[in-house]
Amino acid sequence: MADFEIHQFLCLSDNYAVLLHDADSGVTAVIDTPEVAPIEAALEAKGWSLTHILNTHWHPDHTGGNLELQKKTGAEIIGPRAEQAKIPGIQKAVGQDDVFDLGGHEVHVFDVPGHTAGAVNYWFPNDRLVFTGDTLFAMGCGRLFEGTPEMMWTSLQKLMELPPETRVYCGHEYTQANAAFALSVDPGNTDLKARAQQVDETRAAGQPTLPTTIDLELRTNPFLRPAAPGLQKAIGLEGAAPVAVFTETRLRKDNF
Ligand SMILES: [Zn+2]
Repeated sequence: MADFEIHQFLCLSDNYAVLLHDADSGVTAVIDTPEVAPIEAALEAKGWSLTHILNTHWHPDHTGGNLELQKKTGAEIIGPRAEQAKIPGIQKAVGQDDVFDLGGHEVHVFDVPGHTAGAVNYWFPNDRLVFTGDTLFAMGCGRLFEGTPEMMWTSLQKLMELPPETRVYCGHEYTQANAAFALSVDPGNTDLKARAQQVDETRAAGQPTLPTTIDLELRTNPFLRPAAPGLQKAIGLEGAAPVAVFTETRLRKDNF
C-alpha cells in the first residue's frame, strides 16, 4: 500500500471530481462522476486506469458519468444503499458503519441524510481524508432537498467528530459565496474574516479552495458553529439549542 496520489479537478460548472490512485495496488478510484470527458482526460494525463467509482449521493451531477465510465473501464460502482435504485450501475451498496478495503486503504462509510435522504460520506482514517459530497462544503453545507434540519445537523456532527487534521474534499466550489454568507451570521469571527480574504485571493488566482480540513471548518463554518455565542447573538438566538440555531442558519442561507 502506497500513499494515495490525489487529483482534484472541475467538471460541469462548479462540480469537483477527485481521483485517488494507489501505485502499489494499481487501484484508481473516482469520487463522483459529474462528467465523463474531464474524468477520462485526467485519467489519461496521469496514466491511470479507473478501477472504482464511489458515489456520495444520487444527484445526476454526481452520478451522470457512471454508466459510460463503467462500460469503458469496467470500474466497480460503489454507492449508498438507501439510494441504490437511483445510482446508475451500482454493484456494491454501502451504508452506516460499513468498512471496506480500497487498494489496501480502509474506508469507513457514514450515512449523512439531509441533502438527499440516503447520502453517504467516505472516511479514510489512515489517509486522514474524507469525501463529503454535498453534505459539508467549505464554510457551508448542502441544501436540504430531501431531509430535515435535524437530520442534517445529526449528519454534520458525525463529521465534526473526525480528527481535526482530516482533509475534506467536497462536491462543489461554492466557497466564495459561502464565505459571504458566513460573514453575515458570524461577523465577529476573526478566523473567518482571515479565511474569507484568503479565499478571495485564491479565487482571483483561479485556484481551487479545496480541500479544507475539519479543524478549519470547526473554526469558520457557521453550520458547524451553532453553539458559538457570537453567531447565536447575530441571528437573535442567544442560548438556543444547537439544532434550533442550525435550522435558522440554514433558512437564512436559503434566502441569502
Ligand atoms: Zn447534490
